[in-house]
Amino acid sequence: MSGVPEVQRRQTIAANSTGLDEVRTISGPIWSNPVRVRAQIVRRVCEALERSYGMPRLGNPEDPLDDLIYIVISNKTSPKIAQSTYERVRQRFRTWDEVLSSRSSALRRVLRPAGLFTVKSRQIRAALRRIKGDFGSGSLAGLAGESQQDTEEYLLSLPGVSEKVAKCVMMFTLGAQVLPVDAHVHRIAKRLGWTVRRRPDQCHQELEALVPGKRRYAFHVGCVMHGRTVCRPRGPACEGCCIDRHCVWYEGGSGHE
Ligand code: SF4
Repeated sequence: MSGVPEVQRRQTIAANSTGLDEVRTISGPIWSNPVRVRAQIVRRVCEALERSYGMPRLGNPEDPLDDLIYIVISNKTSPKIAQSTYERVRQRFRTWDEVLSSRSSALRRVLRPAGLFTVKSRQIRAALRRIKGDFGSGSLAGLAGESQQDTEEYLLSLPGVSEKVAKCVMMFTLGAQVLPVDAHVHRIAKRLGWTVRRRPDQCHQELEALVPGKRRYAFHVGCVMHGRTVCRPRGPACEGCCIDRHCVWYEGGSGHE
């Protein structure tokens, strides 16, 4: 008898049947289903989320650099405060170049309501300096026409830009079919049994292997909305949840506490 635990053995078989040779990229119980069943579950979850929440932009600006700065401001603050702080920044500085030509305290002052204002100010100014050095001005318009891989690599090379932030900018402003994994996406994917990984930043490869490109936007924004309102970190409102029939956590009884 094999010494490999049953769950791990089933996942290994499932991984091999996908053609994915990197078994380490997968971890949740959904992977023990045949490919066709997995695809059906993912489609039903994405469709249910889209029916419930639509395809909102979640306040993200349409320009890549505007969005990058908006996402930095949004870190660890409420959507409402992030939005109002971003608007104050836009009112205070006419262009992103003006942020660099002003004293650093000017940006810190405007960012204060969003919290972590020293770190955020440092991150924003460092990214703007790099972008100005690379493109000659405070704009990421030069990324238009670049391949998805080159764009992601460039964004990741900017100070303070994580994989999640790079993918958000690409998804919201450049139409890239990527899947940013934030705390909401991670929590819901875990409860659905799509991953067992402990941190959001560990799941990008695994969840992109599961969710097809054309469904990633709906899944991301649906999870953000669902995670804010229904599938909250504590005390999720499982009764009436639009994806409860696909939820391993609920099926296992945790949702009946
Ligand atoms: S059933 Fe409960 S835990 Fe599962 S996705 Fe819905 S709200 Fe979240």
